[in-house]
Amino acid sequence: MTSLARQFSCHDAYDPTALNADLGRQLILDAVSPISGIEHIPLRDALGRVLAQPVISPIDVPAHDNSAMDGYGLRGDDLSADGDTVLDIIGSAFAGQGFDGSVGPGQAVRIMTGAPLPAGVDTVVMQEVTRAADGKVTIPAGQRRGQNVRRAGEDLRAGLPALPAGRLIRPAELGLVASLGIGEVAVRRRLRVAFFSTGNEIATIGTPAAPGQIYDSNRYTIFGMLSRLGFDIIDIGVIRDDPDALETTLREAAGIADAVITSGGVSVGEADFTREVMARLGEVLFWKIAMKPGRPMAFGRIGGNDGAAWLFGLPGNPVAVMVTFYQFARPALMRLAGIDPIPEPPLLPVPCVTPIRKQPGRTEFIRGVLFQGDTGWQVKSTPAQGSGILSSMADANCFIVLGPAQGNVAEGDTVQVQVLDGLV
Ligand code: AMP
Ligand code: MG
Repeated sequence: MTSLARQFSCHDAYDPTALNADLGRQLILDAVSPISGIEHIPLRDALGRVLAQPVISPIDVPAHDNSAMDGYGLRGDDLSADGDTVLDIIGSAFAGQGFDGSVGPGQAVRIMTGAPLPAGVDTVVMQEVTRAADGKVTIPAGQRRGQNVRRAGEDLRAGLPALPAGRLIRPAELGLVASLGIGEVAVRRRLRVAFFSTGNEIATIGTPAAPGQIYDSNRYTIFGMLSRLGFDIIDIGVIRDDPDALETTLREAAGIADAVITSGGVSVGEADFTREVMARLGEVLFWKIAMKPGRPMAFGRIGGNDGAAWLFGLPGNPVAVMVTFYQFARPALMRLAGIDPIPEPPLLPVPCVTPIRKQPGRTEFIRGVLFQGDTGWQVKSTPAQGSGILSSMADANCFIVLGPAQGNVAEGDTVQVQVLDGLV
C-alpha cells in the first residue's frame, strides 16, 4: 500500500470505490501543505497574493483620539444633567490641522470629522442638535460623556499583528496595510500549476476538428478557474491517449509545477492505461466519488524530471471538470498557496421552485439560478443537467448541493446553495 493510501485508509469511511464527497475533499486538503518561498513586493502588486508573514502594526490606528462627527468638542464634565449647556466657542479643529490650545471648563471648539481631539476635550456633540450664535453654542440635554469619539488604536494597535500570515490580500487588506504606512509586504511565491487535456478526440481551437473530434473546452475552463486564483499557470496543451506521451508530459509537468491538473482519461474505459502510467511516476489513487457529476477522479503525488508535484486527475466531462475542480482541487490548491484558514464557501438555505429527482447515497451538484422571487430569494435548477452540458454552468450562478441523505426535492423544499460569485 502506498503511503497516501495508508494515510487515507485510517478513516473508517474511506472507500475509494464510493467515496463520500466531503471526506474526499478533506483527505486531499489534509494531504497537502503550503509551498515554501517568499517574495517582498510593492503593496499594490500584492492584490490576490497570500501574506507569508504577519503584518505587525508599527503605529496605532487611528494615531490619536479624534472626532467621529462634525460638531462641537467639549468637556463631558460641563454637560448639564437635565437642561441646556451653553459654552464659549474658542476655536476650530480640522482633520489635518488640530486646535493647539487646550479647552477649559465652559469652553468648546468647533470640530470636524477626523480632527484630533484638543487637550481637555473628551466628548463631541453633533452639529445638527446644537445652536450657535454670538460666539456661544447651546448643547441640548441628553448627551453622553465620551460620545462620538474614536480612540487612538481602536482599529489597530502598535506592536500587535494587524493581519495574520496566510491571509489572502483583498482590497480591504490593501487599504489596511496602507493605513499603517507600509508600502511593501512579504508574500508567498505564486503557486505554479501546469495543466493539460487528454484524448485522441480532442481538437485545439485554431486547428480544424476532424470528423468525430470535439473542441477542447476543459483547458479553457481550467485556465479560467486557475487564473481567478492568481496562480502561475502553464498550459501544456492536448496529449493523445498514448502511454509514452502521457508519461513524458507528466514528468515534464511535475518538474516545473507544484501541482498538475489533467482532464480526461480517468473514467472506466481509460483508467487502466492512465493508472499504469501514473503508477510509474509516484503514488496516485483512483477514486470513484459518490457524487454527480464527477464520479471518477485521481489524486496523488508524482515525481518528475527534477521535482515532484501533486496530481489532480479530473474527469473528462466538462461540467464534471468544473465541479470537481471547485470541490476538490480549489481548496487544496489554496492550501498549497499558503492561504490559511481555507475559506469554506457558505451553504445557504433557499426554497427551490423546481422539483429535482435525486437518488440518496451520493452528493449532487445541481446547477442552479438564484433569483429574487415574490417571497424573497429562491432557486431553480437549470433545464439540462448532463455532465457534458457546459451551458448549464454558463447559465448558473450557484450550485444546489444535495447531500447523500437527500432524496427527491419537491417544489418549495428548502435546499442548500453554494453561490458561484463572490463580491470581492
Ligand atoms: P474521458 O474521461 O477521457 O473518457 O472523457 C469523458 C468525456 O469527456 C468524453 O465524452 C470526452 O470526449 C469528454 N472530454 C474529455 N476531455 C475533454 C476536453 N478537454 N474538452 C471537452 N470534452 C472533453
Ligand atoms: Mg479520454
